Parts: sequence; structure tokens; C-alpha cells
Amino acid sequence: MSEYDALIAAATKARENAHAKFSNFKVGAALHTPSGKIFLGCNIENATYGLTLCAERVSIFKAISEGELRFDSIAVVTDTETLTPPCGACRQIIWEFCHDIPVVLANLKGDVQVLQMSKLFPKPFDSSNL
Ligand SMILES: [Zn+2]
Repeated sequence: MSEYDALIAAATKARENAHAKFSNFKVGAALHTPSGKIFLGCNIENATYGLTLCAERVSIFKAISEGELRFDSIAVVTDTETLTPPCGACRQIIWEFCHDIPVVLANLKGDVQVLQMSKLFPKPFDSSNL
């Protein structure tokens, strides 16, 4: 049992909705707020490939669109042997909206690794660079 079990379970459930008909690589994400809300995301692929959205960004954009601005953790679940970290684009977006939160990586076998965003994204471009 860990403090992230519920968040991992939510991301695992969200993964079932992944629209991954081209890659069959299904990803689920669950974004947690300090008030206890969870926003779910799954990857949504597109025939043009380039318009595909990752699960992490879907969860963040859903939350932002509903007026949430504070987040304290995000879980990402895949069905892989090696845990799957957020891609570069998602790291930029996570940093922009969530800053240095823990990123909980998990797979369907129950492997879990928690990494701080500052470790995944050590020298970010953000508003301090403008
Ligand atoms: Zn991504």
C-alpha cells in the first residue's frame, strides 16, 4: 500500500478508455488536486499521428478547462515491463501547470516508481526565462 494507490487505480481505469488504435500503446493518467479531486486522461491517437494527445496532457487540459489550477501529483500507467515516463512535450506541460510535483509511474504488474518533476525535467524553460 502506498499513498498513491488510489491515484494509480484511477489512472489504470482511465487507460481503458485510451484511443490507441494505431499504436495499441494504451496510457492512463490521473491528476490529483490538493482538494482531493482527480482528473483522468488517456492517450487519444489520430490518423495524422501528429495530432495525438498523451494521457498526461489530456488530464491536465481537462482540469484547467474546469477551473482547477493547483495539482499535487500525477500518475501514469502503462502495460509495459519498463515503467513509462512522460514524453518531452508532457514534461513541459506538467512543469508549466504543476511545477515540481511527484510523477507516479506504474504498470499493470504493480511496479511503481515515484520521481519528482525536477528530476525528470532538470532545466525547464518556463516563465522565469521570459
Ligand atoms: Zn506525452
